[in-house]
Amino acid sequence: MERGWQWMMVAQRLDGKECAADLEVDLLARISACSVTPHLAVIIVGEDAASQVYVANKIKTCQRLGILSTHISLARDSSEDELRKIITELNHDDSIHGILVQSPLPAHMDEDGLTELISPAKDVDGFHPINLGRLVQGRTDGLLPCTPAGVMRILAFYGIEISGKKALVIGRSRIVGMPMAILLASRGADATVTIAHSRTQDLIGICNDADIIVAAVGSAGMVTADMVKKGAIVIDVGINRVDDESQDRGWRLAGDIDPNVAEVAAYLTPVPGGIGPMTIAMLMANTVTAAECQHS
Ligand code: NAD
Repeated sequence: MERGWQWMMVAQRLDGKECAADLEVDLLARISACSVTPHLAVIIVGEDAASQVYVANKIKTCQRLGILSTHISLARDSSEDELRKIITELNHDDSIHGILVQSPLPAHMDEDGLTELISPAKDVDGFHPINLGRLVQGRTDGLLPCTPAGVMRILAFYGIEISGKKALVIGRSRIVGMPMAILLASRGADATVTIAHSRTQDLIGICNDADIIVAAVGSAGMVTADMVKKGAIVIDVGINRVDDESQDRGWRLAGDIDPNVAEVAAYLTPVPGGIGPMTIAMLMANTVTAAECQHS
């Protein structure tokens, strides 16, 4: 029988900041070659603390890259009609190339309906049915959802071969899980994909069979070392706040992957510093792509 110390592996850390910095070099060149300065409009409704941080990070990254940004803040009790009016105006404003409505929206707003209102050409989140439809058709050159696209980019950056491998995506959301599964299975990526969700039976068995695991659930540490095959590639999309008395603020961020998975996996993304920075970098890439397409 194998002894723990004989096979214990320390996973290579897939550094999202490093990969994002590499992508930013490409973006700077594209921005300076573009006939217009890309311009992103970000709309936030309400005061959700996490959303405020995400929006501030997006705007800071725009500033660093020389992308123009317009930040529109609406009160939590604003009407859906007010937001619809703003989106419609931005759709018609030729100086704006990308529109992002920060999720989550207050419960009285129809998030899907508002996503559909954004012009597909300015849909830098990649959630419009036309852009998701293109993805389903296998056209991966358009505006792709940022988080799954960021996962594909980091795998490519570290030269990780996924063709023919068994990939498991845990989570089937419109913004992460579902598009992630489609991208992994797309021609050129060529993984064989399983999607697990809240009704999945025998998640442990399915995980143990996977060469690649992408966890996008929102449940801190739910994937533990015993669920992971030795040498697997493990991507942690989850962002969870967990209580931590040792931190001044009383909490820290944790992913869906238990840190002990580093002892069995070959590759692992950290939280924070993994897919979070990649998501913002891909948003910047979509904004540049949108500006290029609107001014070609
Ligand atoms: P969501 O709540 O929309 O979807 C969660 C999914 O997990 C659902 O499809 C559900 O079926 C599945 N699920 C729930 N319990 C499960 C279980 N026990 N076993 C298997 N599947 C289960 O969430 P989301 O918007 O897709 O986000 C998922 C996580 O990713 C969250 O932590 C979110 O904060 C994070 N996230 C991170 C980034 C980033 O930039 N890193 C971007 C988007 C989302």
